[in-house]
Amino acid sequence: MERTDALAAVGSVEEVCRLIDLVSDTMDDYLYICDFQNDFYYISPQAKKRFLLPSNQFHNVMKVHEQLVYPDDIMELKKEFELLENGERKTHSMMYRWMSADGKPIWINCRGRVIEKDGKPWYMVGCINEIGGRQKADNISGLLGEASLKQYIDRKASENTAPEGFFLRVGIDGLKGINARLGMEYGDMLLHRTAKYIQHCILPQEQLYYMSGDEFLIVNLQGGTEKDAKKLYKKIQEKIEQFIEKNNYQVVYTVSAGLILCRDIREFGSANLLKLTEFTLNQAKKLGKNTCYTFCEKDYKAFLHRQKLMRQLRKAVKHGYEGFEAYFQPLYSTDRDRIFGAETLMRFHSEEFGMVSPAEFIPILEETGLIIPAGRWILDQALMACVQFQKVIPDFHISVNLSPVQIMKSCVDKDILSGIARYGLSPSHLIVELTESDLLESDLRFRRTWARLKGNGVQLALDDFGSGYSNFRYLTEMQPDIIKIDRLFTANAMAHEFDFRQLLLFCEMVHSLNLSLCIEGTETREELQRISEMVPEYIQGYYFGKPCERAAFEQLIEEQEWGSKQNRQR
Ligand code: C2E
Ligand code: CA
Ligand code: CA
Repeated sequence: MERTDALAAVGSVEEVCRLIDLVSDTMDDYLYICDFQNDFYYISPQAKKRFLLPSNQFHNVMKVHEQLVYPDDIMELKKEFELLENGERKTHSMMYRWMSADGKPIWINCRGRVIEKDGKPWYMVGCINEIGGRQKADNISGLLGEASLKQYIDRKASENTAPEGFFLRVGIDGLKGINARLGMEYGDMLLHRTAKYIQHCILPQEQLYYMSGDEFLIVNLQGGTEKDAKKLYKKIQEKIEQFIEKNNYQVVYTVSAGLILCRDIREFGSANLLKLTEFTLNQAKKLGKNTCYTFCEKDYKAFLHRQKLMRQLRKAVKHGYEGFEAYFQPLYSTDRDRIFGAETLMRFHSEEFGMVSPAEFIPILEETGLIIPAGRWILDQALMACVQFQKVIPDFHISVNLSPVQIMKSCVDKDILSGIARYGLSPSHLIVELTESDLLESDLRFRRTWARLKGNGVQLALDDFGSGYSNFRYLTEMQPDIIKIDRLFTANAMAHEFDFRQLLLFCEMVHSLNLSLCIEGTETREELQRISEMVPEYIQGYYFGKPCERAAFEQLIEEQEWGSKQNRQR
């Protein structure tokens, strides 16, 4: 048939719509027709479930697309649409993003051909397919992929039985590193081999799928038990060990596994099946890899709690730090026999969680990088408060905690120095606290930040000394201005004579290096007396005051100043 005849042979819009309906459930792609004359669009019915579409047929084509298309891509599509509509372009081929029904951008490849009538564009008919995420099979592992797994599960679900069995997610530990060291080809070979070994180990009634990256999923819906799954994991481990040995230890690698039983999946919603298996494997990796983790409700609830808190923290940072607050704890100077400063401590509370401990939320802020904006915010709060507190005590010092993430991933030294200048403070009135364990990971960036702050007159405190690996080398090398003794170190010293002697000796050494000492965690008068034997320059602890809001802190120092004025007048 001639090409012109072929175009003449296509049907009316209604006929094309019927044809789309007829074949749509035999394919994963979506067929569509866009009728230019009537500003009408028709797409395979299953598209409605997948994408943010009001229906699989609609008028006002561009208006609906404005909602459907990912905002960054809409302009380009509009330009393209104009060319097609006014006949300047006869074929359409564009990769861009549609929003999924649950609001995520999905890459699609949309192709089409314009059919003309009386020399004018009449309609465009074509096909849309998803570029990513729908992989049916993987050529490297030689296995079926996620889309096939979903089909298998759907098929099983339609059989209307509640199967017993398990899902075992297996991941190669450190494949990224192997790829980097030995090349992608080697990594691919390893992936292929591992797939083969797993296949050898599984039973005929078990299915094996390739997930993504370095992960596989073994599905047993035939009554497999936890014991069976663990046995299977052991078998896979042994097979891999044999391969390593046969390969003369050219590469040594391990696999981790996450196990979840069907009944747990039913309890937490089958829709979350993949997420649940992902969670189990992640837990195994967190446990140090080369191990099999079995799903535990308590762990999963803690994980969900953490995820929720993470979302709330993110929202709070986005919405003007709502729920964040700066607290201030007195720093007492033994020379001056008075409160001379405060440590700024971050607080977070929300309606749902109430007051959350920094021990819980600071690691989340660090993990997500949110500590960078939140750290900037607390620094600003601290400097602002310091200006205020200096109206009561002119020589007031403020201290802030720095996270290593701020140092490694932002220009925190610049933020600090410009903040001090903005508030017109003297740099020596700011104390920056860094913990010793952070210094252990020290690299050039860390040392540069430290040197730049020190060079500009900011005081540096080595926080939590004695809590980890006390490395005395840092004392001479980094020359901090203040060493803060960890609260637990102090508590131990209060409880055991030996620890007390040790702390005493240590404090002597700090003084011999001409560094100042701050003892944390002083709670009672008795403790204060014992601590005085160490002759610390500074003391911090509940005895002098718990961390409190700014107004309460201001009142505390006002009372102190008022009291000493009274004493002087007497
Ligand atoms: P840290 O820097 O060692 O802060 C001292 C912690 O000890 C504070 O706990 C304080 O409330 C507590 N504390 C002080 N004196 C006493 C005492 O006499 N008895 C007892 N039982 N506790 C005392 P908090 O506020 O819960 O902070 C915990 C940790 O969270 C901090 O330890 C610090 O590492 C981190 N953190 C808090 N705020 C920030 C912040 O703004 N930025 C960063 N990066 N970390 C922060
Ligand atoms: Ca601190
Ligand atoms: Ca501390």
